[in-house]
Amino acid sequence: MAVAATSPSLGPFSPVRSPTKRRILQSRMAVRSTGTIVTPILIDLQKSCATPLPVLRHVADAMTDDMRAGLVCDGGSDLKMILSYVNSLPTGNENGLVYALDLGGTNFRVIRVQLGGKDERVVDTEFDQVAIPQELMYRTSEELFDFIASGLAKFAEKESGKFSLSPGRKREIGFTFSFPVKQTSIDSGILIKWTKGFAVSGTPGNCVVACLNEAMERQGLDMRVSALVNDTVATLAGARYWDDDVMVAVILGTGTNACYVERTDVIPKMHGHTSSGNTIINTEWGAFSNGLPLTEFDRDMDAASINPGEQIFEKTISGMYLGEIVRRVLLKMAEVDALFGGFVPEKLSTPFALMTPDVCSMQQDITSDLGVVGSILNNIFEVKSSIRARKTVVEVCDTIVKRGGRLAGAGIVGILQKMEQDSEGLIFGKRTVVAMDGGLYEHYPQYRKYLQDAVTELLGSDISKNVIIDHSKDGSGIGAALLAASNSKYA
Ligand code: ADP
Ligand code: MG
Repeated sequence: MAVAATSPSLGPFSPVRSPTKRRILQSRMAVRSTGTIVTPILIDLQKSCATPLPVLRHVADAMTDDMRAGLVCDGGSDLKMILSYVNSLPTGNENGLVYALDLGGTNFRVIRVQLGGKDERVVDTEFDQVAIPQELMYRTSEELFDFIASGLAKFAEKESGKFSLSPGRKREIGFTFSFPVKQTSIDSGILIKWTKGFAVSGTPGNCVVACLNEAMERQGLDMRVSALVNDTVATLAGARYWDDDVMVAVILGTGTNACYVERTDVIPKMHGHTSSGNTIINTEWGAFSNGLPLTEFDRDMDAASINPGEQIFEKTISGMYLGEIVRRVLLKMAEVDALFGGFVPEKLSTPFALMTPDVCSMQQDITSDLGVVGSILNNIFEVKSSIRARKTVVEVCDTIVKRGGRLAGAGIVGILQKMEQDSEGLIFGKRTVVAMDGGLYEHYPQYRKYLQDAVTELLGSDISKNVIIDHSKDGSGIGAALLAASNSKYA
């Protein structure tokens, strides 16, 4: 994994046990006018997480270069740059009844949409969400897909008279599947491996659409999958339906990924199929790793993860990890800097005990004694904290979130400048929209602001006025349904 030269050397591990040693250490710490205790670890952390303009520029340029290399051949860079086989985006003319099924993590969602063409657009929509029982994550592929197909069958049974199928057509499904897939056509793809805690036997190496189609047959359900898409691609399609200027989609949730509209004639790995036209490329940018400002806390978290050395960008900027990085910093501060007066709460050693939504809540605390921070620390770690310690905790949260948001912004600029280089003015010279979705982006105002700041700093105020970074809430459900309609086997 790439590590910036500015990474701190924090010296050997040395828990502060003796009161004398603690007093000496505390006397060496400065206190800011804000009341924050400035510990040596905080200073080092802020230095090594800093993202001044040259760092952002380096990250954006490296993202552009890695994208280009990934388009030349598979394995050409950290970025897989997967062909989505989505070669036409929604136009607004899509018609009829379509379904979407979203399997992303702990839940699956089913949606039905009645499309009314240019004038009426989305006439009606209904959805349902079903939790996947924990035990099905460790059973067989048949059991998992039977469960999904039966959930879909129950939902389909409840279809009311408001929805109607055009004559001669079947109920078709846009299947959003957010696990790594080697796409083989718009409606087929081989599961590379399960992630996010799934360990279902029998699916890797098989086509996930075939698995679902077979399960639907076993249920006697007369539906078929006409588009298999990744969640970023579905988000792009959903946002594009309402706005022709949407060119990029980014997910910042538990994990992160991005896709964008690319010209087929600048994709060397498409070989003979280089007719003029556009396609969507799923960058899988979570695997990016070039030139990131990382610390010992990132390296340790990576080493302890189920996928060491992989998904480094994701581990630096996405919701699953921000809280865990903060926890690791606080543990070291409690041990070495006596952040909690020399007490090291046992629960501070539990991996993933601190979640990103907790970090977010602490950063929203505007009470004078940071009471919310105090009670979150107490609830999670069972520790009493001074106001000064709470201020330090908030600074740690801000440091990690600021780095994450700014690096995400640099990644977006990397994508935009790749597109600009191949289109001369068609991106920066006119209105261009980046559709954003995911719980981290949606719920974390500081993260959003840091991301936007980085984009503005990198592009300058004139160009950044043309670049609209916009939340596209739940666009992926409708997006997948639209792609099912535009790739209909019956139209
Ligand atoms: P997924 O990525 O699993 O499809 P979401 O897009 O809903 O799901 O994102 C969920 C993630 O968003 C959580 O894992 C968490 O990291 C982050 N998140 C959710 N709520 C908040 C919040 N209030 N503040 C910050 N991050 C949040
Ligand atoms: Mg999601």
